[in-house]
Amino acid sequence: KRKLDPEDDTPRKKKQIGHGQAVAAHYNELQEVGLDKRSQSRIFYLRNFNNWTKSVLIGEFIDRVRQKKSDITVLDLGCGKGGDLLKWKKGRIKKLVCTDIADISVQQCKQRYEDMKGRCRYNDYIFDAEFIQADSTKDLLASKYDDPYISFDICSCQFVYHYSFETYEQADMMLKNACGNLSPGGYFIGTTPNSFELIKRLEASETNSFGNDVYSVKFEKKGDYPLFGCKYDFHLEEVVDVPEFLVYFPLLEEMAKKHGMKLVYKRTFREFYEEKIKNEEHKMLLRRMQALEPYSTFGDSRLVSDKPDDYEHAKEF
Ligand code: SAM
Repeated sequence: KRKLDPEDDTPRKKKQIGHGQAVAAHYNELQEVGLDKRSQSRIFYLRNFNNWTKSVLIGEFIDRVRQKKSDITVLDLGCGKGGDLLKWKKGRIKKLVCTDIADISVQQCKQRYEDMKGRCRYNDYIFDAEFIQADSTKDLLASKYDDPYISFDICSCQFVYHYSFETYEQADMMLKNACGNLSPGGYFIGTTPNSFELIKRLEASETNSFGNDVYSVKFEKKGDYPLFGCKYDFHLEEVVDVPEFLVYFPLLEEMAKKHGMKLVYKRTFREFYEEKIKNEEHKMLLRRMQALEPYSTFGDSRLVSDKPDDYEHAKEF
């Protein structure tokens, strides 16, 4: 039995709360930087590459849905500060619901949407939007939508799902939120770190960590990788310094079946890049977004790494 001593109680409370609050506090504190400063950044190309990946992925699934219907409704789960708003505008969707655990990020996302709307000329089209602050690993989103009967054609979860793998219950709740309100034939799309690659690099390292002068990944120990709660500290210059959890993809696939889902498409970042770059339009977009310079300029000091492999740890904020 535990003593009724407040000091004794502290670790238990911390354990109950989990890492969600720390993650929210971290993202809330992140400052948005202007375009000028962003282009000076050492992770300029990495950010742009991630953005390109999301643009192509989102565009592709909007096209898939549009073959069946014209009015598209989307849930952006872990929307952050609204980094994907423009992609939804370009995709001419009808309605977007944005949700995130970090309240300040949700406010900034809403403001960004309002600014975007304010800039629209009279025949410009912009979707309707709704904003919800919630911990999607613990709160049921279905009870929070303005329209209790809303159904989504796409749930997009970009660089977020790995925060849920702290416990089975949290991972399952996030899946329930992602898939529970999907229309039949709807898609759950997302990006998440590649656990196989993470472990491969960890095992190749002499210590419990690996990385370069821009990013690092640190595990508590090697050789023991529980299915849930396998925490590592991820650090990326300028942006992230938060605990994340390994997502063992075959398990995610199994768990998603329980929510009526079947896997239709899965690629590593490198495979995705190699597949999509064959398309001229995507290639042009990559150039326009200054995502990856041609291989010959990989020596540019602003690049995170001259090994395309390192882009598998891609993160965008
Ligand atoms: N999806 C956005 C993007 O691609 O620009 C933001 C990605 S950022 C790496 C991760 C986001 O996940 C943060 O905004 C964070 O607050 C959010 N997040 C983390 N845990 C969450 C949770 N339990 N519920 C909802 N959002 C969460």
